[in-house]
Amino acid sequence: MNTPPHRPTWPRVSPCLHCGVPVLRDNDGTPIHASLSYVCRDRWGQITSTTATPAGVPTGPRHG
Ligand SMILES: [Zn+2]
Repeated sequence: MNTPPHRPTWPRVSPCLHCGVPVLRDNDGTPIHASLSYVCRDRWGQITSTTATPAGVPTGPRHG
């Protein structure tokens, strides 16, 4: 039997706060939609004024 080795925990994926599309991180750590688009799109595919924002991220006061 081939038992796969222990897999590292996959980074938690959160849905976009604006459009609900899963949000990942690019190589620079910038949030990007799983659709590989930085900007949000509405249900009709129109680009909106918002960008990928993972929900669940604390939105409290930031440093600085
Ligand atoms: Zn979005």
